[in-house]
Amino acid sequence: MKAAVVRAFGQPLVLEDRPDPQPGPGQIRVRVEACGLCHTDIHAALGDWPAQPLPPFVPGHEGVGIVEECGAGVTHLTSGRRVAVPWLGWACGRCEHCLGGWESLCPRQVNTGYGCDGAYAEKMLAHADFALPVPDGLSAVEAAPLVCAGVTAYKALKVAGVRPAHLVAVCGIGGLGHLAVQYAKIAGARVAAIDVVDDKLELASELGADLVIDARTQDVAHVLRGQGGAHCALALAADDTAFEALHAGLRRGGTLVMVALPAHGSLRVPVFDTVLKGISVTGSIVGTRQDLAEVLGLHAAGRTRVVFETRPLTSVNESLHDVRTGQVKARVVFDLGAAR
Ligand code: NAD
Ligand code: ZN
Ligand code: ZN
Repeated sequence: MKAAVVRAFGQPLVLEDRPDPQPGPGQIRVRVEACGLCHTDIHAALGDWPAQPLPPFVPGHEGVGIVEECGAGVTHLTSGRRVAVPWLGWACGRCEHCLGGWESLCPRQVNTGYGCDGAYAEKMLAHADFALPVPDGLSAVEAAPLVCAGVTAYKALKVAGVRPAHLVAVCGIGGLGHLAVQYAKIAGARVAAIDVVDDKLELASELGADLVIDARTQDVAHVLRGQGGAHCALALAADDTAFEALHAGLRRGGTLVMVALPAHGSLRVPVFDTVLKGISVTGSIVGTRQDLAEVLGLHAAGRTRVVFETRPLTSVNESLHDVRTGQVKARVVFDLGAAR
């Protein structure tokens, strides 16, 4: 089987032929049909973060494919079932976070395409308990972006506690942002969409954003404050200079949710304003299996639109470059079904 492999940080990925992986107890082998290109894969391939993956590794955590073989002890999935394989590849199920409904905070978790090989490959292994059945009627290429971008955006809005009367600022209308705009609208909120690329701002309007802010030419905080300030702001652009403007654009009692993970990112928070205005600053990391089931269910019910373009896995290096430079409308999805 073919896999796109990071052999060294900052170097082009290498397409390799590898033997089919064999599922161990509790695992399944998935014939990958599609995998979305999350910006996290770019950070992974560059070794951007303090906790680094160990090359060689196969990125990809928006995997969708067909169960091909089940390892010992797997009883709830059978060959032929279409499943999603997300970032949360495994969690312990026993710690206070797992038991408290926050498995995405499990300190022992294993992350797909980071701590174990991911879905930039024709075949992959997954832990059966963490592979989610994809509802009927969804194609693999359409479902893939929901598996990380969708669930992460959806969870960030839950963390923010968004409500119908709220103004929600969504900064970065890429894979995560184009879905965040839609979830915020489903929650009944007004949405201010922020980006630095014309096509992305147009897309945000098409998807129902009430207000678009071009961060190249407009003062984001000023525009938001002109609307009374945002009740919550989602920082989804991998550029930490944008976080401060969002903080400054919040209304009293507002919440900044940090989601994007720029290399060496940091945020200077003004203590006085944060205290006097009762502002919250929080982080949000992907979502649980239940969050993902809700996201897939919303899409199956026709409530969301996934904007994507399909490409072959052989375009992996060009695709990483195009996403990094903002030349892709929302999501690139590698179509591995088409490649065979
Ligand atoms: P993306 O490349 O698809 O989208 C990023 C968007 O931000 C683009 O539309 C780009 O034009 C825009 N942008 C860039 N600079 C900007 C600026 N200064 N102001 C406004 N917009 C700007 O990326 P993505 O896949 O949506 O991921 C976004 C970030 O979120 C990445 O850092 C990724 O690693 C991170 N991420 C975090 C989680 C999590 O669980 N916390 C999950 C997935 C992705
Ligand atoms: Zn991701
Ligand atoms: Zn745990």
